Amino acid sequence: MRRKYASLNLGYRKVPYQQQKRHVMISTQTALLRNDQDGLRHAAELLGSGGLVAFPTETVYGLGADARNDGAVAGIYAAKGRPSFNPLIVHLPDLAAVQQYCIVTDAAQMLARAFWPGALTLVLPLRKDAGISKLVTAGLDTLAVRVPDHPVASALLAAFGGPIAAPSANPSGRISPTTAAHVHDGLAGKIDGIVDGGDCKVGLESTIVDCTQKPALLRAGGVPLEAIEAALGRQILQPSDPATPKSPGQLLSHYAPQGRVRLNALKANGHEKWLGFGSVDADLNLSASGDLTEAAANLFKMLHQLDQMGATHIAVSPIPETGLGKAINDRLKRAAAPRN
Ligand code: AMP
Ligand code: MG
Repeated sequence: MRRKYASLNLGYRKVPYQQQKRHVMISTQTALLRNDQDGLRHAAELLGSGGLVAFPTETVYGLGADARNDGAVAGIYAAKGRPSFNPLIVHLPDLAAVQQYCIVTDAAQMLARAFWPGALTLVLPLRKDAGISKLVTAGLDTLAVRVPDHPVASALLAAFGGPIAAPSANPSGRISPTTAAHVHDGLAGKIDGIVDGGDCKVGLESTIVDCTQKPALLRAGGVPLEAIEAALGRQILQPSDPATPKSPGQLLSHYAPQGRVRLNALKANGHEKWLGFGSVDADLNLSASGDLTEAAANLFKMLHQLDQMGATHIAVSPIPETGLGKAINDRLKRAAAPRN
């Protein structure tokens, strides 16, 4: 009998199952990993060393990184070419693991019991000592979490033993991938591995419910609103309701430091703290060597540090508008925008 996924047509060569080496390299950098013990162990090792690994979930393929590692999370943005830092969803194996990182409110408990594992993401208050990268939360004190319902995702979470941040595994602006071949088409050569788990069942993004206050629907998705309301026994706030929190990406200054921000500063004035980039003598430097991935990894951490330092005025060096620089500048522009 022909084994499922016995061969994978990646467009330029077909590798029969028996002839596959332990891990078939599909480019100089991207390993195609089988969803067996060896492949998953390798995937977990790649994640542990700060690598990027795409893996199947029941919604779409996710592009995973260790959610505690700033550099790895910055790599997600670089690989996808995302023009802005929207917070990412963290994938965990079960409710007990979620409790390590988040405060699970009563409504969240009910929804978790009803729909996890499944296509429902909950936004919850983040625990202070959770150790999640600020680049995952885009500096917010809430965290979006999900327990995926896919044997390969579960096995990878078990093998890795930590939180995996994962947006969809496609270049920004392209269609979400529902097969390993889609991921390969979009991201080969830019990520470290792809775990092949066949087709995704749902093929739709997860439903997002904010449970930090009154439950509110932030995004429609795989779990219908009616089912959520039935599980809670009451109606929840809709995106159109003014009381519903705005999705972070829609807010002009959703995370801004306390101090007033001045962009494209070639030096700091007397009353300013200087957030530098490149070889400048700044109070804090996003990347002294001018590395945009390092700068992205440091961005939210340093904005928080400026708050801790009591900075009332912040001067920021110019950041080149290339690669990750676009997302960094987008966030800085929001931080510098006038506030109410
Ligand atoms: P994606 O990774 O592209 O599926 O997008 C993740 C979605 O989750 C985006 O719409 C985010 O705005 C949303 N999200 C992630 N974290 C949070 C959070 N802490 N609060 C509210 N929404 C969030
Ligand atoms: Mg997406």
